[in-house]
Amino acid sequence: MKRKTVLITGASRGIGRAAALIFAQNGYDLILNCAHSISELNIFAKELEMKYHIQTLCCGGDVSDYTFVCQMFRDISTFCGGVDVLINNAGITYMGLLSDMSFQDWEHILHTNLTSAFACCKCAIPYMVSQKSGKIINVSSEWGLYGASCEAAYSATKGGLNAFTKALAKELAPSNIQVNAAAFGVIDTDMNLSLSPSERDQLKSEIPAGYFASPKEAAEFLWQLANSPAYLTGQIISFDGGWF
Ligand code: NAD
Repeated sequence: MKRKTVLITGASRGIGRAAALIFAQNGYDLILNCAHSISELNIFAKELEMKYHIQTLCCGGDVSDYTFVCQMFRDISTFCGGVDVLINNAGITYMGLLSDMSFQDWEHILHTNLTSAFACCKCAIPYMVSQKSGKIINVSSEWGLYGASCEAAYSATKGGLNAFTKALAKELAPSNIQVNAAAFGVIDTDMNLSLSPSERDQLKSEIPAGYFASPKEAAEFLWQLANSPAYLTGQIISFDGGWF
């Protein structure tokens, strides 16, 4: 029987890398993307292939670039036909006053966090429709629901991703394709490296669970979403240790 396939964007580290491991452990063929660390990603993919007897395709490139995404899906089509699960995970943050943010920085975060999801969904959907099944999981943030000071642009991209999730779920439900978003609180990845020890302690004290989730915990949640019942669609589901 043909193995199922998942595309994970931003899979070189953090949540994306942890998700790749879980899907490999469960027998999925993997299509892994990242923007910069392609040689590390290739090594990681080879390790997973050997250990879990799966196939992998690594696609290095910038998912905010529509032309790259179209080429990536042509490669995917040759590799395995299409993807059963799409995880739009690649993302960047920007911390600072909005008045100090350049227009180029605004465009960069908008295209990385939101346009990328448009591009990957647009390319993934035709195969899913032909199969009459598919799961799209958008990796979002609590800031997309509640907003964060000094992260207005980031919050806007994740808020946009949430609305995109809800709207696309309605469009695709008749084709038995589910679209949901994981709204993460704080996950202990390199994205939060700029926090000082005292800022980390302060943040932890605000989270009822008392700690930052590990990438593995976040990835396990994505795995559960990928295996959720078909009736669960159009939802923005918080995973935040009881924070909000
Ligand atoms: P990370 O910085 O560790 O990893 C981000 C990944 O995205 C990297 O592999 C990077 O290469 C890739 N990437 C960035 N821009 C890209 C582009 N243009 N094209 C292709 N790949 C690109 O961060 P993470 O914490 O693992 O974040 C993953 C997702 O989770 C992001 O969407 C982020 O917004 C979201 N998130 C993270 C947290 C957190 O606390 N870490 C909280 C809420 C949401």
